[in-house]
Amino acid sequence: MKRVYLDHNATSPPDPRVLLAMEPWLREHCGNPSSLYAEGRLARRAVEDARDEIAQAMAVPAREITFTSGATEANSLAIFSAHQHGRGTLVASAIEHPSILAAVKHLGESTGRPIGTLAVDEAGVVRLDSLYEALELNPALLALMAVNNEVGSIQPIDAVARQVAGSNIWLHVDAVQAWGKADFGTPPPGVSSLSISGHKIGGPKGIGALWCHEEFPIAALFWGGGQERGRRAGTENVAGIVGLGRAFRLAREELSARQARLSALESEFLVALHRNGVNFERHGPATAALRIPGTLNLRFPGVRGERLMIALDLDGVAISLGSACSSGAAEPSPVLRAMGVEKLPNLESVRISFGATQALGEGTEAAQVIHDVLRLKLNS
Ligand code: PMP
Repeated sequence: MKRVYLDHNATSPPDPRVLLAMEPWLREHCGNPSSLYAEGRLARRAVEDARDEIAQAMAVPAREITFTSGATEANSLAIFSAHQHGRGTLVASAIEHPSILAAVKHLGESTGRPIGTLAVDEAGVVRLDSLYEALELNPALLALMAVNNEVGSIQPIDAVARQVAGSNIWLHVDAVQAWGKADFGTPPPGVSSLSISGHKIGGPKGIGALWCHEEFPIAALFWGGGQERGRRAGTENVAGIVGLGRAFRLAREELSARQARLSALESEFLVALHRNGVNFERHGPATAALRIPGTLNLRFPGVRGERLMIALDLDGVAISLGSACSSGAAEPSPVLRAMGVEKLPNLESVRISFGATQALGEGTEAAQVIHDVLRLKLNS
């Protein structure tokens, strides 16, 4: 049986148009972009064209884009730079990706810098009263993601940016889950840096970028040949960069079509679950305007998420646990915990995320498999 993949927030299949754009840079053109002869100049042109593509889609100057090995590195680059830039507290929202939270924790622990947290409400949206409290601490860094990867909640980046515009506070936005799903384009005034990743938008893994406003200086994490204006040494991943540029442009150009497809998949899935009489609860914003389409964090009462995930895997459906697995036992998801979800319902929750290129009908199919697995295998 054909498998149904429902974990696009973890990684999405590469778009064939992206692969086509990348192929010449893997097969034929072997130049190093730092070389001055024709092969090198050709590779340099490809890197700069991709930079222009991304910069144009974001309406920012191309020189402010730095290519990295992915969003994890882009997030670290921003956070370490913010740490060097200002003296105050390092503040991150409670629902940030581990690549933000672990970097902030590391810096706090190793330097004795105070750390602050922005609280979220029960829908997984940052609380503005918590922001005002954090601003009293005179923070050096505020890290707030554009869209949460587990529950799909859209964060009020514009409102937060307005509060810090013109100040010395470094506002970093992890925008990995926003492109191609949320109406998020040009970073508003007040945002200092923003990270993106290739493999969440139909591009390759192992490539990402950091946009950083030129008034906020990047402090390099690697030293060497001075690539990327000295901000990120190391020979550029030319094929990856070309793929990221193409994937990024397509995600912007096809935004409404992608949103429509994600909404259609989500609603056919929910309709089929209801039709089959499956008992479930949804975490995250109740209003569609506050969440991206296609990301569902669901609790099936009485069934551990881990058991459901394993049973569905055996029956050809891939879903994910929001919770991290450490030392063999599932841990409650910190995101759901921050939203006030108790331990048992937390452990009974799973994440289902559709993809923009996924065939219609797969939502209905998956709902049927979930119904059968719950009824026949897990006796729910
Ligand atoms: N931030 C968010 C919100 C993510 O979902 C991910 C991917 N899981 C990352 C950062 C890390 O991106 P990458 O895999 O490119 O390092």
